[in-house]
Amino acid sequence: MDIAIIGGGAAAVGLLDALATSAPATASSVPGKDAAGRTGGTVTIFEPSPWLWRGRAYGPDLDAVLVNAPPAIMSIRADDFGHYAAWLGERGADHLDRLFDRPLVPRALYGEYLANTAEKAVAALGEQGRQVEVVADRVTEVARAGARLALRTEGDAQVREVGQVALCVGGGTPPDLYGLAGHPGFTVDPYPLADTLERVAADADVAVIGSGLTAVDVVVSLAARGHAGRITLLSRSGVLPHVWQRPVERRPRHVTIERVAELHQAQGGLALTDLVGLLRAELAETGEDFDDFAAELRSTGHDDPVDRLRRQIAAVDDPRIGRRVLQVTAHTVGPYAWRLLPEADRARIRGHLRTATSVASPMVPVNAVQLMALLDSGQLTLAAGLDTIEMRDGRFRVRTRDSELIADVVVNAVNPSPQAVPAAAQGLVQSVVDAGLATMHPFGGVTPADPRVHVVGDLVGGGSFITSSIPGLAAQASRTARALSAA
Ligand SMILES: Cc1cc2nc3c(=O)[nH]c(=O)nc-3n(C[C@H](O)[C@H](O)[C@H](O)COP(=O)(O)OP(=O)(O)OC[C@H]3O[C@@H](n4cnc5c(N)ncnc54)[C@H](O)[C@@H]3O)c2cc1C
Repeated sequence: MDIAIIGGGAAAVGLLDALATSAPATASSVPGKDAAGRTGGTVTIFEPSPWLWRGRAYGPDLDAVLVNAPPAIMSIRADDFGHYAAWLGERGADHLDRLFDRPLVPRALYGEYLANTAEKAVAALGEQGRQVEVVADRVTEVARAGARLALRTEGDAQVREVGQVALCVGGGTPPDLYGLAGHPGFTVDPYPLADTLERVAADADVAVIGSGLTAVDVVVSLAARGHAGRITLLSRSGVLPHVWQRPVERRPRHVTIERVAELHQAQGGLALTDLVGLLRAELAETGEDFDDFAAELRSTGHDDPVDRLRRQIAAVDDPRIGRRVLQVTAHTVGPYAWRLLPEADRARIRGHLRTATSVASPMVPVNAVQLMALLDSGQLTLAAGLDTIEMRDGRFRVRTRDSELIADVVVNAVNPSPQAVPAAAQGLVQSVVDAGLATMHPFGGVTPADPRVHVVGDLVGGGSFITSSIPGLAAQASRTARALSAA
C-alpha cells in the first residue's frame, strides 16, 4: 500500500512510529525490501517547512521555552508512556523542575526526540520493505484517480499517486483580533520567541494579548532575556492557566473510556451529568469532597487570579486528585465523550471554556513561580476586560473595562480556534472536500468521507475546544496506523 503523509510535525512522527512498530520487523540490508526481498509499498511524507519532524511547536527557540507537560505524557508512542523518558535518560536531571520533581526540557530538545523517533521509524520501515521518501514541498491538491488518489504539490509539476492519504497538517495560525497587523511593534505570531523578542527593546512597555500558555511563554522568555520594562497580560477573562500538580501513580478508575462506553451503551446515550457522576465516584474513592472541588472550579474567573496562582503554587504537591483527574481525562476520555454528548451539554461546557482549558492545559510550576515573582515585583500586571487596542502617536493605546494603558510593543498570544484549517492547507482541504473525499464538520475541522482518507491532529472534525496534546496525537496516530495497515 502506498501512503502519503501530508505534514511532517509531531502527528506525522506518531504515525510513522506506529506504522513502524505495528508491523513485524524482518531485518534486511536492502532498503525498501524486507528480508524475503519483498517491497511493502511506499510512504511519502510532504513537509515544506525547515522544521521537519518538529512542526510549529518544537523547532529551535530560547531555552526558556519549555514543554508544558511531564515526560510520562510527552511520549509520542501511544502504548509506551516511558518512550520519551527513556530517550531523555540522564539528561533529564539537567532540566529538573524542583517543585514539580519532573524534568521539563526546552521545546527544541523535545524536537530532537521527535526527529530521532522519526529517523528510527524511517529506518525500521525500510527494513520492513517500505520505501520511505521525504518531499520538501507543500501539497496543494488531492484528487481521485480511479482506485488511487493523485497528489499535486506546489513546487513541481509531478503528480504522485498513492492508495491512502493522512492529513497531518496541524492547526491554524494566531488570529489578529484587533486588526494590528502591519504596525511596527506588533507581533502577530510570537514563535519562535528567539526571533520575535529580539526586536523588543529591553526597557519597552510590552502588552501581551492573551493570558494562556502562549502568554506565559512570552512572559518567561522576556524575563529570561532580562527584560526591564513593564509587561501587561491583556485578556477578556483575566484567567491564567492552572498550575500542574506533581503526577501521582493512581490512574482514574471511573472516568475512563470503558466506563463512558458502558454507560453510553446501557442508556443509549450520554449526558454531562453522567460524566459528573463518574468524577464524583472517582473523588469518593479518595474521600474528597466533590462539592468543594466543584465550587473551587466555578470560582475561576470570579476570584483574584494572582491569589489563585499563589494558592496553586502552594498546592503543587497537594495529594488531592480532583484537578489531576480532570487534567488527564480531558485529553484521554474527553475527545471520546465529547462526541457522545448532546449538543446542549457541549454548549454548556463551551460556556466554561476558559476554566476548562486552564484546567486541561496547566502551566508548569517553574513558569508559575517565575510569573509570581514578576507579579510580586510589580513588573508584570494582569488586565482583564480587554476592549480595544489602537495606535496613537506610534504607540499602542489599550482600553480595558476599567483602565487604559499605553504600550510600545504588543505581542499576540491568542491561539487559533481548534480545528481551524491552517493557511498552508486551505487549498488542499478544499480539494479533498470538492472531490467528495471528506466533508467540513459544522463545528470545524474535516471528517473523512472515504476510507482512503485519514486525519490526525487538530483538523479532525467535531473535536472539542481543547487543542491536541502529544498523548492525544499519539492515540490518534496509533488508530490511524491500524487503519492504514488494514487497508
Ligand atoms: C507553541 C506550541 C507549544 C505546544 N506545546 C505542547 C506541549 O508542551 N505539550 C503538548 O502535549 N502539546 C503541546 N502543544 C500541542 C501539540 O503537541 C502540538 O501542537 C503538536 O506539535 C501538533 O503537531 P501536528 O503535527 O499536528 O502539527 P504541526 O506541528 O503544526 O505540524 C503540521 C505540519 O504540517 C505542515 N503542513 C501544513 N500544510 C501542509 C501542506 N499543504 N502540505 C504539506 N505540509 C503541510 C506544516 O508545515 C507543519 O510542519 C503545543 C502546541 C503549540 C502550537
